[in-house]
Amino acid sequence: MKKGLPLVLNGERCRFVVVGGGSVATRKVSSLVRNASDVVVISPEVSDDIRKYAGDRCRLLEREVTGDDFSAGDYVVLATDSPEVNSSMADAARAAGAWVCRTDDPSGNDFAFPAVIDRSPLQIAVSTNGATPALTRMVRQRLEAFIPSDYGRLGQWMEALRLRLRTDGSSVSRGEFWRRLQRSQAPEQVLARREDVADSIVEKLLNGEEPSRGEAFLVGAGPGDPDLLTFRALRLMQSADIVFYDRLVSPAIMELIPEDAERYYVGKARSDHAVPQEGINRLLVEEALKGKRVLRLKGGDPFIFGRGGEEIEELAASGVPFQVVPGITAASGCSAYAGIPLTHRDHAQSVRFVTGHMKDGTCNLPWNELAHPQQTLVIYMGLVGLPEICRQLIAHGLSAETPIALVEKGTLPDQKVHTGTLATMADYVAGKEIQAPTLTIVGSVVSLHEKLRWR
Ligand code: SAH
Repeated sequence: MKKGLPLVLNGERCRFVVVGGGSVATRKVSSLVRNASDVVVISPEVSDDIRKYAGDRCRLLEREVTGDDFSAGDYVVLATDSPEVNSSMADAARAAGAWVCRTDDPSGNDFAFPAVIDRSPLQIAVSTNGATPALTRMVRQRLEAFIPSDYGRLGQWMEALRLRLRTDGSSVSRGEFWRRLQRSQAPEQVLARREDVADSIVEKLLNGEEPSRGEAFLVGAGPGDPDLLTFRALRLMQSADIVFYDRLVSPAIMELIPEDAERYYVGKARSDHAVPQEGINRLLVEEALKGKRVLRLKGGDPFIFGRGGEEIEELAASGVPFQVVPGITAASGCSAYAGIPLTHRDHAQSVRFVTGHMKDGTCNLPWNELAHPQQTLVIYMGLVGLPEICRQLIAHGLSAETPIALVEKGTLPDQKVHTGTLATMADYVAGKEIQAPTLTIVGSVVSLHEKLRWR
């Protein structure tokens, strides 16, 4: 078939005849019954799946097909395993005035089945017209991953809104209304499952008011590898007007932010904060109140040692809408990329995340609770305190031979994993140039690294 012409059929008004009952026919029937009300399957034998579809909308004729089975205007799918049957029935169907799709030889077909990404009422059809099904599959998989399933929800909300506007006789210009709606926060609010907020934006637009677009997103960027972002994180990043990011957000991730977005570094290198915390909290609110889409991008997960809680307190108090998007925390990213499972039935039944750096600069941890042989200990921000941490864990009962790993720049292209024991690690580190960020993992799970390392 040459380049095709995509059209959308009304499945309630067409008759579809599928000839065949094997696996190919089953796939066609399963996609037809979703949206068509008159499907006839003709085959002496049919698969169990086809039998399940049988009913008012899908009739089974369990016999051989004949040339008299076709009528003008039918869409006929020939999916038997006999090229001769497919060929002679194609001629018979065409003679009757039907449209033909042969599954064994698509070159002369009248219509084709695209791959469908179903976000009803939105449907996306992908087709190369049979030229390369592998490419169709590839693109379909990409779109499936990139278009969140919640777009179906958004579609339903927009459809209901459209029907409502058609009847309520409002005087706003339709085209202008939809353009303004698209620019507003409403779609994103529906995706965040806050239809009530979206509805109130619609009311404002209908009253001719300009609803503020201002919103803040506290987004976890994961440990560094951009592939570890969530879909929602990426979507919100791409819609940002202004970004506040810190040191842990990798350059590769910053590249995914729109070029015209304003960027502000508010990072902290241990004690010299580029912008004091209260300043950041206030900036987020101020910029959102100006009507901007404010992205606060943080390394890892914003609610794990990230002060995410503090940063949104002011937002919550100000009434600015905001969302929090989880990210892969350093413990998960580093352990996966280093091949060190955090729990393992033979080694550890629990895992604890602690910070090695307290607000007052000391490293004052509940050592008794941490020195536990069946527990994995993950220490964030612990490089400076490492000698003290090793000493205290031994002093509180952990074996000096307990394995310990230091994951340097976890998940990044230059990740390094240093291993040793509680007894050796302090000296080892003293003689090395180790670059931040680093994460410390203590416990017998670390012994699995040799076997399970894969990067
Ligand atoms: N919210 C972040 C943690 C912020 S605290 C999260 O969930 O991951 C900063 C500490 O996280 C660093 O000092 C380091 O211990 C750890 N960390 C963050 N990213 C890291 C990475 N790519 N490799 C190693 N450690 C990392």
